[in-house]
Amino acid sequence: MTGTTLSPDFCPPESLLPRRTPDNAGYWDAAAGHHFVVPHCGGCGRDFFPVSPRCPHCLSNMVQWRAPEASGTVASWIRYRKAYYPWVEAHLPYVGLLVDVVPGVRIPMLAWPTPTREPKIGDRVEIGFLDVREGVSLPVCRLAD
Ligand SMILES: [Zn+2]
Repeated sequence: MTGTTLSPDFCPPESLLPRRTPDNAGYWDAAAGHHFVVPHCGGCGRDFFPVSPRCPHCLSNMVQWRAPEASGTVASWIRYRKAYYPWVEAHLPYVGLLVDVVPGVRIPMLAWPTPTREPKIGDRVEIGFLDVREGVSLPVCRLAD
């Protein structure tokens, strides 16, 4: 899946966009270029998530970015039927997925486009990107058929 541009009615307000920090800039900069990366420890060789300046396994600060295959499996999911934010109301019901990308990396993502069928635990997903604003893209995933 390649990047998709959001319709203007689905753009979150600036306050809800990812906030870049020195620790997570590599993740968001890669996403802005439609590249999917995960934090990888140069000390013990494990991937992890969420982003952190130190490996949660060995506490090494040799954190690097690694580009795994941009796919995963559904670990859990939820269908939102209520608009907790007015900007999503036109897209109800939408689906949030918890995706296992590689061992140690489980990431919450929006399912996009909204699947017409109910997801199942273990379903394969493909990771792509939604262009929210200039220079801001969110990793999202699409259920495999
Ligand atoms: Zn480590």
